[in-house]
Amino acid sequence: MRKTGCAAGWSRVLFYLIQFTWGLPVNLVGLAVFLCCRGRCPVRRFHNGIVTCLPGNRGGLSLGIFLFLSVPNADEYPGLWVHEYGHTIQCLLLGPLYWLVVAVPSLIWCHCFAGWRGRRGIPYDALYCERWATAWGRRWSGPVPGERPIQGP
Ligand SMILES: [Zn+2]
Repeated sequence: MRKTGCAAGWSRVLFYLIQFTWGLPVNLVGLAVFLCCRGRCPVRRFHNGIVTCLPGNRGGLSLGIFLFLSVPNADEYPGLWVHEYGHTIQCLLLGPLYWLVVAVPSLIWCHCFAGWRGRRGIPYDALYCERWATAWGRRWSGPVPGERPIQGP
């Protein structure tokens, strides 16, 4: 099967070049977490990302090309894969600004406002950087049929 878009040829080379230059501060942290988890958790590829499937039910985390999914039966949450990949693409654009523009607001939104969102029925994607991640994830990895709601940053 022929790969298209960001997963193909020079686009792929450019993708990794930018991730490991402009996006290096984020990818170094992602690599450190990945190396800590490697060998103990299943690792998969998702487009240009490396996905580590962690135990538990803590949602997702994206640190550059390194995605971490903590949901039971990760294959049942294709929307989460796509969303986290959207954060990967955000890192491509934002580089070190990813921490300020996406990571910190996302972590606060995830951990400090979960109850508030639940009581008011506010979707996780109501925060700009989460909605943006979902949109770009869909744009760069394609739509996902039957995707479930997102559960993490
Ligand atoms: Zn997110």
